[in-house]
Amino acid sequence: MFGRVKPLWGEKSSLKSNYDAVIIGGGLHGLAAAYFLARDHNMRNVAVLEKRFIGFGGSGRNTAIVRANQRTQENVPLYKEALALWPVLTKDLDYNLMFFNCGNLNLMHSEAAMNAARMNVATAQFHGVESHLIDAKQCKELVPALNILADITYPIFGAMYHPPGGILRHDAIVWGLAKGAAEHGVHVHQQTEVTGIGVENGKIVSVETDKGQIKTPRVLNAAGGYSAALSYQMLGIKLPISVLTIQAMVTQPLKPLLNHVVSSGAYHAYANQTLKGEIATGAHMDSWPNYTTQTTAYYIKHQAEALAEMLPCLRGVKFMRHWGGLADMTPDMAPIMDGNDSIEGYFMDCGWGYFGFKSCAASGKYMAQFMASGNCPNMLKPFSLRRFEQHRLMGETAAVVNYTPDN
Ligand SMILES: Cc1cc2nc3c(=O)[nH]c(=O)nc-3n(C[C@H](O)[C@H](O)[C@H](O)COP(=O)(O)OP(=O)(O)OC[C@H]3O[C@@H](n4cnc5c(N)ncnc54)[C@H](O)[C@@H]3O)c2cc1C
Repeated sequence: MFGRVKPLWGEKSSLKSNYDAVIIGGGLHGLAAAYFLARDHNMRNVAVLEKRFIGFGGSGRNTAIVRANQRTQENVPLYKEALALWPVLTKDLDYNLMFFNCGNLNLMHSEAAMNAARMNVATAQFHGVESHLIDAKQCKELVPALNILADITYPIFGAMYHPPGGILRHDAIVWGLAKGAAEHGVHVHQQTEVTGIGVENGKIVSVETDKGQIKTPRVLNAAGGYSAALSYQMLGIKLPISVLTIQAMVTQPLKPLLNHVVSSGAYHAYANQTLKGEIATGAHMDSWPNYTTQTTAYYIKHQAEALAEMLPCLRGVKFMRHWGGLADMTPDMAPIMDGNDSIEGYFMDCGWGYFGFKSCAASGKYMAQFMASGNCPNMLKPFSLRRFEQHRLMGETAAVVNYTPDN
């Protein structure tokens, strides 16, 4: 009755027995690295291997918030570049990524938190990222739905306001990057699990998959929540990554009422209104490590209570869907983007935790440069695995959690 629908990222290519680079993981980081390898470095004999389907991991489950006002001087420039890339990529990929730069408000709930935020604002401004501290009245002017009364659990003192941030459509980026990579010759193989990595004389030589062996001199571990287990089981390299669940939900579609991303460390809640009208909301990650993507009743109750205080007009609104995804969290909440001194050809782009959506365009660009040239770009040098043994942790935890009144 209907003609066969052509896959967005080209006709299914057959798995070759040899590639110049194999990327493990069809999430945003793997797909972005593949796209830039092929587009900017003419490395087209590249395969992205995904054990389920592209976007199966955090890339298809996140709440799609993007911003550049991270905490530290190493991180802000990377996220600034990533933020600037969305309009460019929308054009280059010829795919609507639905970037909506509605602006972000990080709410502060005490004078101490306002003072701590001054440091973030100063770092952002130093790096040319627009960020201001505003008071509660100004918050209300920007987001009339916000409750700035004093009789709530965590009264709002003000916010860190970041006008250029916003939201994108997460699955559009997954599909857009897959399409772009395929158009430049990359093979995207779904339902293909990497089960082993072959090393000879200190060099990567192959990967084992459930569909057979592939010879390759380069492997990128972009396996998200599975990256640490994979690295240890296949190569014996331990990564300081804990795997935790992040939960999220959306409400029924509503008329426009929330024109900014609003987040609160004290309430452990954030919300934005998608272009479909749903309020997408998330919280801190679950506080115990696990590999489940299930949601909990505790989380749903917590979100409902937090939103009812912060945005009282949402009381009585129905939640339509909830879900969970895995976060690969390092001790300093900054990623690991590195090669490996003892195994030539092994590259890592993992440990993204909360922040891997907003960063993927820039990390893909620089990881591709690293893989093609063998030289670590300056932008990536602070993110080495070695920093954990050299006591050079970055303190990005403060980008999300130091604003609670109790810590
Ligand atoms: C609920 C939630 C909300 C979030 N909100 C935000 C947000 O608003 N903003 C933000 O910046 N970040 C957010 N994040 C974090 C962000 O989604 C992740 O950091 C990001 O998606 C990580 O992308 P990735 O490509 O590294 O990994 P993933 O997207 O997890 O991709 C890894 C892929 O590797 C595949 N894989 C694993 N093992 C193998 C194997 N052996 N062989 C082949 N394939 C394999 C997996 O199937 C998976 O598809 C959120 C995460 C969650 C869960």
